[in-house]
Amino acid sequence: MGSPVAYRAAPLAYELAVMCRCGLKFPRWISWSDENPGHRYYRCRRSKSEMDCAYLVWIDPEPTPFMKTLLLDLRDVVWRLKKENANLKIRLHDGEEVIQLQEMNQALARDNIDKIEELKAKDMKLEEQNATLQVMAAEISSRSACSSFYSVVAVFAVALGVGMLLGRVMFA
Ligand SMILES: [Zn+2]
Repeated sequence: MGSPVAYRAAPLAYELAVMCRCGLKFPRWISWSDENPGHRYYRCRRSKSEMDCAYLVWIDPEPTPFMKTLLLDLRDVVWRLKKENANLKIRLHDGEEVIQLQEMNQALARDNIDKIEELKAKDMKLEEQNATLQVMAAEISSRSACSSFYSVVAVFAVALGVGMLLGRVMFA
């Protein structure tokens, strides 16, 4: 879990330099293990490598049993709170994403309603135009029916006239 509290000074930011067996300045750390909570120590900076000289020096005297228990309790509380805080941040982030998606959905739904209304209005206009066109078509067809009736009458009248003329010519 790492150190429950931030280091006030970086591991190498101390004077006077203490050297390890490698001849390098010792980094100074704070232990948070169950055995040595809050206990400062020097440790070879090559630890975790094959060149580690394995030299370790404890700096502070052993704390009292009460202080040791208190430090461990405080360490555990900080670790637990950090973990809970991280989980809450994840849940908050998830919640924010859900809210964003809901807002996007609502906006799309509103947009759809607007478009449907627009289409309905266009549909009504087209129906009106269609009705007007049907009326006009009916007028035109009745007019042409009338005119064809008149032309039949005219043809009949002409035929009658010609017939009468012919009759006169033949029986004169
Ligand atoms: Zn060393």
